[in-house]
Amino acid sequence: MSNIAKQINILVEVQGVDMEILQADRKIGMLGDRMVSLDREAAEHEKLVTAAKKALDDLKKAYRELESESKVNSEMIVKSNEKLRGVKTNKEYQSILKEIEEIRKKISGIEDRMLDQLECIESAGQAEKEKEAQLAGFTQSCREKKETLAIRQERERQVLDGLNGKKMQISTKADLNMIAILDDVKKKVRGLAVVPVHGAICMGCHMNIPAQLYNELQRLDELRFCPHCHRIIYWKEKDNE
Ligand SMILES: [Zn+2]
Repeated sequence: MSNIAKQINILVEVQGVDMEILQADRKIGMLGDRMVSLDREAAEHEKLVTAAKKALDDLKKAYRELESESKVNSEMIVKSNEKLRGVKTNKEYQSILKEIEEIRKKISGIEDRMLDQLECIESAGQAEKEKEAQLAGFTQSCREKKETLAIRQERERQVLDGLNGKKMQISTKADLNMIAILDDVKKKVRGLAVVPVHGAICMGCHMNIPAQLYNELQRLDELRFCPHCHRIIYWKEKDNE
């Protein structure tokens, strides 16, 4: 095998490992993204619980306000009853009775509202409990999922370490100039940088390469590039031929 053929083989090997490294990197990133989105989902659940708690607290607070309003009015009735004992005229007596009646009506209205409020508190309490239960369930499944993801990510990191080691090993056999050229081409093209030419067709861009270049390519005496896509090309017989 000519030296250039050997070097091209090495470049193809390096490229293959690079592709695997890229895939492993992507997998690690994807697994990380899934963990982040689980965290985000958990935060959403927590927000719902916080909102439900706040709603419940607000209702309880409103209930306590009604309670104290009712208490104030009850005290007013006590005072009016005391006044009643000291009145001199019937007119005054009637007026205080009317006053007491008004306050009673007011208290009754407040008590109706308090009853409504109690129902609201009950259903808000129920809703809050449901949200808490959902959060607890999610937290549990989230923890399990994240553990699985972390294990998979760790495994993928080990794969990546192995691939980096493999690449280093292959690279020690490579001509440094060749690696530099490969890196240069990699920056300019998408996907593969070293591609075979099958029957005068570049497998990178699927265009025909000139006959003369195709002939030269088969000499395997120097590195050649596709005139169309500028990838490194090498001659390879079709597998079936
Ligand atoms: Zn090409």
